Amino acid sequence: MDKQTDIKRLSQAGLEDAMRDLEQPAWRVSSLVRWLYQRGVTSFAEMTDLPSAVRDALTERYTLSSPVVVGRQASADGTRKYLVRFADGVTVETVGLPSGGRLTVCFSTQAGCAMGCAFCATGQGGLVRNLSCGEMADQVAVVAKDFGERVTNAVAMGQGEPFANYDAVLAALRFMNAKDGLGIGARHITVSTCGVLSGIRRFAKEPEQFTLAVSLHSAVQPTRDRLMPGVHGYRLRDLRDALADYAESTGRRPTLEYALVAGVNDSPKELNALVEWCTGLPCHVNLIPVNPVDGTGVERPDDEASLRFRHVLMRSGIESSIRVERGVDIDAACGQLRQRS
Ligand code: SAH
Ligand code: SF4
Repeated sequence: MDKQTDIKRLSQAGLEDAMRDLEQPAWRVSSLVRWLYQRGVTSFAEMTDLPSAVRDALTERYTLSSPVVVGRQASADGTRKYLVRFADGVTVETVGLPSGGRLTVCFSTQAGCAMGCAFCATGQGGLVRNLSCGEMADQVAVVAKDFGERVTNAVAMGQGEPFANYDAVLAALRFMNAKDGLGIGARHITVSTCGVLSGIRRFAKEPEQFTLAVSLHSAVQPTRDRLMPGVHGYRLRDLRDALADYAESTGRRPTLEYALVAGVNDSPKELNALVEWCTGLPCHVNLIPVNPVDGTGVERPDDEASLRFRHVLMRSGIESSIRVERGVDIDAACGQLRQRS
């Protein structure tokens, strides 16, 4: 066995195999998960309810990596942004958003992102690497520890495209959801995708009631291709079919994210296309006036545009809301996360 395998790379099934190899009963896996994700220990030696021979064998076979918080900024609105460094020196940003008794963590699924969306800071730098399931779950644990509170909601809306790292993301969501893990209700765990169709179709079949959000940003093909070059191979009608199937098979309503960019997707023609695309699809449209990101040249339209979009969507029977941005003063809002703070 490769001594270098980090135990935080293993899914629940991987941990079960590891314990089986050590001829341990299945219930010891729960204990291992608790030590790794609830208590956040940094060595196997601290897992005091495991027999010492098991602790020694685990130490022999696996490394146990823990992230280090190398930067922390607090916004005037209570939002906190962390720069988290992993064992190989790679860093990502994670955000904690407290609000009315809830604590939401916005975690990253990749360091960087290959999708290159025109308005997104993460997309500007390209992909560095995928994160492991443990590196994702640990971001949630970092925020829980810093706030000294239980995390109630988790959203995969930090850096990266979750469905470009599907297996590790699902394994992470399960550790977040597990009662021996971080104990967050499945409905309170959301994945946001730029629209990777194979991922949406797989996600629809997962047994847990995780929530799905899809970045739409335009219902006009050439506009969407320009804004989101990484998914230009996917046709809007196929995305709509995948979402209609998702809604039908899960009984859940996906959220559609629509970042309003002045002069690009805020025109009456774009609005009409959006209404037409959404009609008959169970969905909730989340309008986000785009956040300014240096070097992208995109601008936020005036408030009137979001109000007009919301009004017309409502009148057409399409549920929508305007997202209240948090943490803009520390560049912690949507699309503002970079490799360094
Ligand atoms: N890669 C995934 C999830 C991370 S991005 C995705 O694209 O869905 C989380 C959300 O922030 C997405 O809806 C994304 O389109 C949006 N976003 C990116 N840059 C933004 C910006 N500058 N202003 C507002 N929203 C932005
Ligand atoms: Fe990647 Fe999402 Fe940013 Fe697009 S918006 S570049 S998919 S992180």
